[in-house]
Amino acid sequence: MAKITCIVCPTGCVMNVEDIDGRISVDGNKCPNGAEYAVVEMTAPKRVITSLVKIGHGVVPVKTNGGIDKNKIFDALAVLKGLVLTAPIITGDVIVKNVLGSGVDFVATGSFPE
Ligand code: SF4
Repeated sequence: MAKITCIVCPTGCVMNVEDIDGRISVDGNKCPNGAEYAVVEMTAPKRVITSLVKIGHGVVPVKTNGGIDKNKIFDALAVLKGLVLTAPIITGDVIVKNVLGSGVDFVATGSFPE
């Protein structure tokens, strides 16, 4: 049995999660979103990735607009390596589309004027 804290909302329910012959049992969640989160955490955990990308003499903060498989985080970060952006960059601009074929993009979380 594993204890997983739900991070979907600030309530932070602590759930007991157990894999019983391939069937995930979840207890302690106050809503169905927690059970959904626990099943993903047990079967294919994903994470939002944040990083910085070079631009001129500075950097632009970026993050994925969805979760990337936890075991592909370093591969996803490698996609940004050596990338140098051209100003202007506006918050929300897509920096790398469809990272590793995941359907998730790296987007700018800050702006860099011309
Ligand atoms: S289980 Fe529901 S109420 Fe509890 S932390 Fe997750 S989203 Fe919030």
